[in-house]
Amino acid sequence: MAPVLSIVIPCFNEEEVLPETARAVRGKLAELVQSGRLSDASFICFVDDGSRDKTWSIIKDLSTGGSIVGIKLAHNAGHQKALIAGLMYSKDHSDCVISMDADLQDDIDVIDEFIEAYSEGCKIVYGARRDRSRDAFFKRFTAEFFYKVMKAMGVELVFNHADYRLVDSAVLHHLEEYQETHLFLRGIFPAMGFTSRIVYYDRKARLAGNTKYPLKKQIAFALEGIASFSVKPLKLVTWIGMIVFILCSVMGVYTFWQKFTGNSVPGWASNMLSIYFLGSVQILSLGVIGEYIGKIYEEVKRRPRYIIEDIAAPAFKEAKVGQNSVFEA
Ligand code: UDP
Ligand code: MG
Repeated sequence: MAPVLSIVIPCFNEEEVLPETARAVRGKLAELVQSGRLSDASFICFVDDGSRDKTWSIIKDLSTGGSIVGIKLAHNAGHQKALIAGLMYSKDHSDCVISMDADLQDDIDVIDEFIEAYSEGCKIVYGARRDRSRDAFFKRFTAEFFYKVMKAMGVELVFNHADYRLVDSAVLHHLEEYQETHLFLRGIFPAMGFTSRIVYYDRKARLAGNTKYPLKKQIAFALEGIASFSVKPLKLVTWIGMIVFILCSVMGVYTFWQKFTGNSVPGWASNMLSIYFLGSVQILSLGVIGEYIGKIYEEVKRRPRYIIEDIAAPAFKEAKVGQNSVFEA
C-alpha cells in the first residue's frame, strides 16, 4: 500500500512566498499520488511560527482546499521548535514526514528520491546540498566553519544538510522521548542512528522575501548546537586553565631568579600583561560555564517547547495509517 506522507513547512512571516509554495508542493503531492507512489491521504502541514503578517490567514484559506493542515503556534518559538510541532502532529497522521523550508530553496523534485529511498527501507533520508556556489561568500564561509567547529566538538552532522529530510513516523515516535527543551534536530537524527541515506540536490535562491535567519540568529543557533550536544568547551576551559598555570609557574620561577640575581627592575609591562591575560582567560571561562548553566536553567524549568493556539484541518479524508487513522476535524 502506498504510504501516507506529510510535508512539514515552518513559516515565519512568509506571506510573500506561501501561495506559490503551497501551489508547487501541492502539485508535487498530486503528481506522486496520481502515480501511485503516495496515498491520497498525504498532506502538507504548515506551521505558523507566530508570524506577524498575514501568514496564518493565508494558511487557513489554503486549508479549506484540502490536503493542507495548518498549525498556529501562540508565539514565535523559533524554526527548530516550529518544526518539532509539525513533526509531532504529523507522526500521528502519516507513515513518513518530510520537513522543508517555506521559501522553496529546497528542490521539491528530490522528494521522488526521498520516497524511493523510503520504500527501499531507509528510515531517515537526508537532503544535502551538492555545493554552496549560490550562497554569498560570507554565508558560505560561516556555514562551512560551523560544520568544522561542530565536528571538532564531537557533534556528528551530515555535511551541508539543513532540515530538508524524510523521517519515518516510527523514528519520530522515538524522537518524542527526547524531552529536552533545546532539541537540535540536525544533531539528534544522526545520533539516533537507523538505516539512512543521503540524497544530494542543488539549493536554489529564496523565492521571495528575506531570510528569517539573520547573522545574530545564525550565531545563536551554532552556539545552541554546540552547547546542547557537547561538553568539550567546558573541558577546553580546564585545558586553558592548566596551560595558563604552567606558563604562570614558569614566569614565577623566572621572577624569583631575577629577584635573587639582583635584576629586579619594577616590571610594569609584565605586570600589566599578566593581569590582562589572566583576566581575559577568567572571563572567557566564566562565559563558557555560564552558557551551560543557562542551558541547565532552561532545561530544569521543563517548559513546553511550543504552544499550539489553533489547528486548521478541515475536509480531511480518513487516513489509513499504521497506528492512527483519524484526523482531527
Ligand atoms: N522560520 C521559522 N521561525 C523562525 C525563523 C524561520 O519558522 O523564527 C522558518 C522560515 O519561515 C523558513 C525556515 O524557517 O521556512 C528557514 O528560514 P529561512 O529560509 O529564512 O532561512 P535560510 O534559508 O535563509 O537559512
Ligand atoms: Mg531559506
